[in-house]
Amino acid sequence: MHDSGSRIWLSPPHMGGTELDYINDAFKKNWIAPLGDNVLGLEEKLEHYLESNSHVAALNSGTSALHLALLLLGIKEGDEVLCQSFTFAASVNPVRYVGATPVFIDSEPESWNICPVQLETAIKARISVGKKPAAIIAVHLYGMPYKVNDVNAVAERYNIPIIEDAAEALGSTIDGKKCGTLGTFGVLSFNGNKIITTSGGGAIVCKAPELKEKAVFLATQARDAASHYQHSVLGYNYRMSNISAGIGCGQMEVLPLRLQQKNELHQKYISFFKSIPGVKVFTNYNSNVSSNHWLTCITISDTQSTGKSTEELRQVLDAHNIESRPLWKPMHLQPLYKGYLYFGSKVCQRLFETGLCLPSGTGMDEEQILRIFTCLKGYFGDIN
Ligand SMILES: *Cc1c(COP(=O)(O)O)cnc(C)c1O
Repeated sequence: MHDSGSRIWLSPPHMGGTELDYINDAFKKNWIAPLGDNVLGLEEKLEHYLESNSHVAALNSGTSALHLALLLLGIKEGDEVLCQSFTFAASVNPVRYVGATPVFIDSEPESWNICPVQLETAIKARISVGKKPAAIIAVHLYGMPYKVNDVNAVAERYNIPIIEDAAEALGSTIDGKKCGTLGTFGVLSFNGNKIITTSGGGAIVCKAPELKEKAVFLATQARDAASHYQHSVLGYNYRMSNISAGIGCGQMEVLPLRLQQKNELHQKYISFFKSIPGVKVFTNYNSNVSSNHWLTCITISDTQSTGKSTEELRQVLDAHNIESRPLWKPMHLQPLYKGYLYFGSKVCQRLFETGLCLPSGTGMDEEQILRIFTCLKGYFGDIN
């Protein structure tokens, strides 16, 4: 049986209202092609929001931001990069773009992110065979900050830079500090389903103006200073367009509101599942972290005794025209990364097997939210 309502998506774009003003402005000035006021405006808004001496270059995707971060760190063929296994493929693929090799690290159960203990084990093991890792890619998955203090301590002990993949975590904080500003380089994404969007886009967060300048240089075909087109190094076409940036400028105005809306929905899920045995909502693991709750996720632990499973729930929601999605499949279990080194046990594999992302759009009306919870009640039984 299908509900008649239109499909409820996992996390669709949600415009604030002023995006078109910025785009119209670009049209008026005929500043359609790369650069222009909106790109600079978006960078300024992000720098102001993130604080912490952030120097932001707006790019055409989070993936290109990761690629540029690796290039700026000088990661090259033959290098090894330690990567959180539990993530989206875009966190890791850029390691291959530069000819380096990812080495995968398991998650720890509280943050679901890179395990500091396994991280150090891996570093020691690779150093002992003469292969000191060149960088660490840590991810704030689903907006949840990784254990920044512990991971930083390990990285500092061995003097290894961190690329902070904050693609899902704009607006999240740890110890009051904003995600995106906590690594050697930070990476943001404004893809269509992220907390704010530019339709497609991303940014690299640098700690010095010269590094931002270098990022922009590489992102615009690496033109030397000459009136003719002269090139000494390999460049890329990675800059954000002025039209996309116009959407981003409008979206930045509503980021605080989106954070509030994500949290309100998250709290609704928490209070619903409080009385459902075997179901755990993934939430802030201590009072120092504040997730943006980009997607609310659950795990179902006792499928055998409760008879409930996330895959069955996913199908039930789908039959009611509601999208939900399994958690990211760990990279070390992907066919693409078969045979690559992995340090860990089965923490992230277990999460993948027992978890589900629930619809987390901020643009839903009361009726759509009611549809979701009616469906959940139908599946778990109306014991609330
Ligand atoms: C979305 C995402 C990216 C990539 O960003 P794009 O803008 O889609 O290229 C990287 N890492 C994570 C964890 C993401 O969720």
